[in-house]
Amino acid sequence: MIPVRDDLRALEGYHSAQVDVRVRLNTNESPEPPPPAFRDAVAAEVSRVDWHRYPDRAATHLREAIAATHGVDRSQVFAANGSNEVLQTVLLAYAGPGRTVATFEPTYQMHAQIARVTGATVVEGERAADFTLDPAEVERVLTEHRPHVVFLTSPNNPTGLVEPVERVRQLLELAPGLVVVDEAYAQFADWTALDLVSEDRPLVVTRTFSKTWSMAGARLGYLIGPSWLVGELDKVVLPYHLDALKQIAGRLALRFSDDMNHRVEHIVAERERITAAMADLPLDVFPSGANFVLFRVRPGTGLTGRDVWQGLVDRSVLIRDCSSWPRLDNCLRVTVGTADENSEFLTALAGVLVPTPTGATP
Ligand code: PMP
Repeated sequence: MIPVRDDLRALEGYHSAQVDVRVRLNTNESPEPPPPAFRDAVAAEVSRVDWHRYPDRAATHLREAIAATHGVDRSQVFAANGSNEVLQTVLLAYAGPGRTVATFEPTYQMHAQIARVTGATVVEGERAADFTLDPAEVERVLTEHRPHVVFLTSPNNPTGLVEPVERVRQLLELAPGLVVVDEAYAQFADWTALDLVSEDRPLVVTRTFSKTWSMAGARLGYLIGPSWLVGELDKVVLPYHLDALKQIAGRLALRFSDDMNHRVEHIVAERERITAAMADLPLDVFPSGANFVLFRVRPGTGLTGRDVWQGLVDRSVLIRDCSSWPRLDNCLRVTVGTADENSEFLTALAGVLVPTPTGATP
């Protein structure tokens, strides 16, 4: 064995347990696939792909379609293999050794993780106990640390909280560097920071096809930002990083926005049903503006978050165990699934938390 970079030695990877279960509600995917008409359209175009040639390096048609969707210029769109690769490219260009990246915890762990992999120093601001973000804390972090990049996630993962627009405005006012708003779950929120993007503001908004677009299998994400910044990212990213199939799939997916919006409505209705049912159990449930719900197992149950997670796995339901993450003791996160999956989850959860003497579910 040869030693890895000193600063990577203490780093742990970010993984969700892959367990063979009937109901998988652990990675915030869409519970429904895209419509058959989308699959047919993709299959027809894929049959004409020039397999022996590299794909369009600039992903021109895909970027044009994304730009048209958001009413921006093609030069303001950068696309990559999942929004994680978008974030990585941003951090390779704007973070790195000698630079500082700020997050407000708890939030999406990959922001800090990727920043550290680029060699940057990470500064963690703190959220309140209800996971809201105090403007005084934002000011403290930005004035004390002068970060080169600052992240906000709205709706936030894993808390589900939609950040108020004033918080983004405050960041834009005070941040000395780049502001990244991660909107992986944007379609569930009632506002978007996209409206704040302009050529003279150091702001980018990242989006993904993995959630509401039902395309987690394809790995595609993008950002909207000033064209001068997109130009820098194009220099950093590997040549031909977006394969021809993905460029086709992403472009065609955008034609099915009615189906996507319909899925969002359905998920929101199911989320409200789950949240209402969970209110009757010995849990603290955090209000969600996304396609998942974070909850904390109350101490009075005599069970830890880990116990409840394991009890659900034993009943063939997999959710995300956040209970060992900093600031999230005894917390678990469930992704909203199909109505049947959600009902199975609720039955299993009640069975774990309120077991009857016979072991049958009440
Ligand atoms: N941002 C947030 C907030 C997320 O929750 C996720 C996925 N869990 C991502 C980015 C990355 O998504 P992808 O790489 O699939 O686009």
